[in-house]
Amino acid sequence: MHSSANRLRLAAAVLFTLVAAGTNHAMAADKLPLLIVDGQNNHTWQAMTPVMKAELVKTGRFSVDVATTPPGGAPAEDWAKFRPDFSKYAVVLSNYNGDLWPAEVQAALVKFVGNGGGLVIIHAANNAFPSWGEWNKMIGLGWRDHNFGDRVTVDERGRPLRTPKGEGPGAGHGSQHEFVIDVHEPEHPVMRGMPEHWKHANDELYHGQRGPGADMHILASALAAKETGGTGAREPMIWWIPYGKGRVFTTVMGHVGGNDTRSIRCVGFITVMNRGCEWAATGTVTLPIPENFPKADATSLAPEAPK
Ligand code: ZN
Repeated sequence: MHSSANRLRLAAAVLFTLVAAGTNHAMAADKLPLLIVDGQNNHTWQAMTPVMKAELVKTGRFSVDVATTPPGGAPAEDWAKFRPDFSKYAVVLSNYNGDLWPAEVQAALVKFVGNGGGLVIIHAANNAFPSWGEWNKMIGLGWRDHNFGDRVTVDERGRPLRTPKGEGPGAGHGSQHEFVIDVHEPEHPVMRGMPEHWKHANDELYHGQRGPGADMHILASALAAKETGGTGAREPMIWWIPYGKGRVFTTVMGHVGGNDTRSIRCVGFITVMNRGCEWAATGTVTLPIPENFPKADATSLAPEAPK
């Protein structure tokens, strides 16, 4: 009697454990913990973070937290309270361009990415931290003076062309406009299934970005037309760089000034961000290309959230 009751209890316990483990596993696979860092930017980060967070959450693939730094020029005691625990996350998205982080936070991010964490850089986040060497390696190219490092552009087939430091233009952009994104690595998980050419909504087209530019995998570019104040060259728009066991994914799309959020409501931008975050975190992409993805001659905007 006793032993058969015990066996039943044991079987029930084993079954429960298996079900619980299965559930935990499914949950872990479904939701990737993602941290957005914001708090200082020469762009309206207060308008950007909610749009990006809502789009990431809507995929069902991420659980999203936000870490907001102290404001520019804040005293050291305020910065002493800013210690985001990157190790709790699969991927960190930077919407930050401001004061250099405390050395401890820099070291924590370097360790996080080196150990396999994902890092995603949006637009002016690549303007940050010119004096932080490991950051410059991670992002490859940043908004820097032409004496800072090499410039990397691509030819029509997406092959990289390097311009040495000191030659050619430094960081800048022409007037804002809608422009075509050309995909160069259609088999990369983030780009797979996208039209080869698609029209991005009104944005700044960054050119002349500078840096070490090592191990850059340029996934897409855009022609910075001279008529709109560009360089006449194909400028990298989306790239990734391996760093230790981690992946750093950058898009320079996503300018938001005032409350004009068109660039980050572009369905192309949203898809690149969502898939870039998933890929930086896991090395694979399950999120689909939405049906309303932009076409070569037509932009596509997600509606503004109700105020
Ligand atoms: Zn901008």
